[in-house]
Amino acid sequence: MNKKVKCPECKSEIEVDSSVSVGDIEQCLNCDIELKVVSVIPLKLEIMTCNFSDDDEMDEDDEENMD
Ligand SMILES: [Zn+2]
Repeated sequence: MNKKVKCPECKSEIEVDSSVSVGDIEQCLNCDIELKVVSVIPLKLEIMTCNFSDDDEMDEDDEENMD
């Protein structure tokens, strides 16, 4: 049985698998944004921000050649 949660962006209902766990990424089919599961009980999704969050670890190897 799926859980339902409202998209924090567009307030439409999103169905999330009941086996969802914190850190999973869901996608809102209505506004097409990615949402990270921040809490399972109660189910809570948070909008994924790509470049504006500096809390997230950025493990990209973006080394430039420095001679
Ligand atoms: Zn949405």
